[in-house]
Amino acid sequence: MPIAGTSSSGQFSCATSDHRTLRDLRIKRKGQPVFVIGHLIDRKGQEATFEVFNDRLAVVKFPDGVAVGYDPFELLLPTDIDPDGVAYFEIRGCAICGQLFPLTGEECDAPQEPTACPDCRDQ
Ligand SMILES: [Zn+2]
Repeated sequence: MPIAGTSSSGQFSCATSDHRTLRDLRIKRKGQPVFVIGHLIDRKGQEATFEVFNDRLAVVKFPDGVAVGYDPFELLLPTDIDPDGVAYFEIRGCAICGQLFPLTGEECDAPQEPTACPDCRDQ
């Protein structure tokens, strides 16, 4: 059983081939930068930080101070975090299913970016 916990210490996570959304992280750290693709149209595409779990929802805080709960699947991880802690998001739309997904640092540096999301690439 994976331990689904929250922690306020340690490093924040970037997207990898194994984890691309907050849901995929074994340990979800308070303050983790995320890119929101969830249900609220006026918040879609904004950056926020993960605060805490409330039931099954991951509560994130937007720069304007508003806190909203999301399915962790709707929160994408950054492509890179620089030494100052600034998160960079390289978000792409899948050419097959239209789903948004974050590039990993490796994919971002590769000569050819992937055009399909990980799910479609697996099929
Ligand atoms: Zn896809």
